[in-house]
Amino acid sequence: MNIDTSAIVLKPIGVVRSTLRSLEDYPEPGMPAWIEVLPQYREALQSIEANSHLWILLWFHKADRTLLKTVPRRFNPDLPEYGVFGLRSPNRPNPIALTLVQLEELENGILRVQGLDAIDGTPVLDIKSYYEQDIVFSPKTPYIRSTDPVVRRNHFYKQALKHHQEACPDLFMAVRMVLVADQYLGHINRPDLRVTVKGSSCLADCIQGLSRARLANPSRFAWLQAPDLPACCWTDPGGMLTIHALCPLDEESFGNLGDADLFRVEFTRI
Ligand SMILES: [Zn+2]
Repeated sequence: MNIDTSAIVLKPIGVVRSTLRSLEDYPEPGMPAWIEVLPQYREALQSIEANSHLWILLWFHKADRTLLKTVPRRFNPDLPEYGVFGLRSPNRPNPIALTLVQLEELENGILRVQGLDAIDGTPVLDIKSYYEQDIVFSPKTPYIRSTDPVVRRNHFYKQALKHHQEACPDLFMAVRMVLVADQYLGHINRPDLRVTVKGSSCLADCIQGLSRARLANPSRFAWLQAPDLPACCWTDPGGMLTIHALCPLDEESFGNLGDADLFRVEFTRI
């Protein structure tokens, strides 16, 4: 193969500042982080506030660069093995990480951002605009489900917030409903899984954002405005799952109300 395999030299343009200190620390939802851009590159930040979201390219300096295949053990040791190019594993020959963040503020060459899961001191290689044409609403992705329910809840919460962009009570309800659906049905983004939401437009929007169910091609999503306690119904060729809310939910009860207190669940398998 005619390719120059000699080293490519990259210089960091900045560094991550975060309360995450080690690879074992889990990021909390809503946790801010900072990108300190080095003085000689700060001119390149001009008009960056025109962006709400940015792609950040990082160099995971603590990664294992010899690894080509891995099991996402941190989420679930029972998952199958994947090649690192089909995953977002930090361990890979060139440990370049790509992460999408929300820009909150720029002050004195320091960007305050949301959604940056990197430890303090991680070198930053580049910052780029996130454009609408980058969006693929319903991609096919590996089903990497954490065995830890708190990690699962945080993952769906983060995804719902990214989609719906406000932490309203129906976002909390949607996340809890989707966690139940995920528990009974597995990957809720499956093309053969349809969902009907009965409730507010906020609930419908959040469940659509989490399930990636489109109205057509394939038709996976339906919504009925319902003034009472909400419900959602999931169907696939093998059966039906209906989740009825028994009471409203707020931020406080989101994390501590049990499924049995919050929902009545009907599950039929053909
Ligand atoms: Zn809302």
